[in-house]
Amino acid sequence: MAVKPIDPVANVRASRREQSTEAMRHRDRCQPYNRRAWNVMRSVKLAVDPLCECCGDVPASEVHHRNANPWDNAWSNLASLCKRCHSRTTCVERRPQPLARCWATYP
Ligand SMILES: [Zn+2]
Repeated sequence: MAVKPIDPVANVRASRREQSTEAMRHRDRCQPYNRRAWNVMRSVKLAVDPLCECCGDVPASEVHHRNANPWDNAWSNLASLCKRCHSRTTCVERRPQPLARCWATYP
């Protein structure tokens, strides 16, 4: 029977790993969603627009910020989306954009 060796610094290592993970987390992106105002706005939006605004025939379960600013809860900035459409939309928005080239400066 194999015996797993005891790691004397396992707790220290786990603690440091957790600290570094917490340090990398973007707190500013999480805070807007932990507020009561957002929960109310989200519930109202899903009640008024229960279907996904992207595909149209699936019940919406998430609310998307069109301008990618989580603090902007203006009605025109919100879109009811299903999980699939929201993931796709967010993925496209966060995709690194290619460097803008100004062809007019080339001879
Ligand atoms: Zn959809």
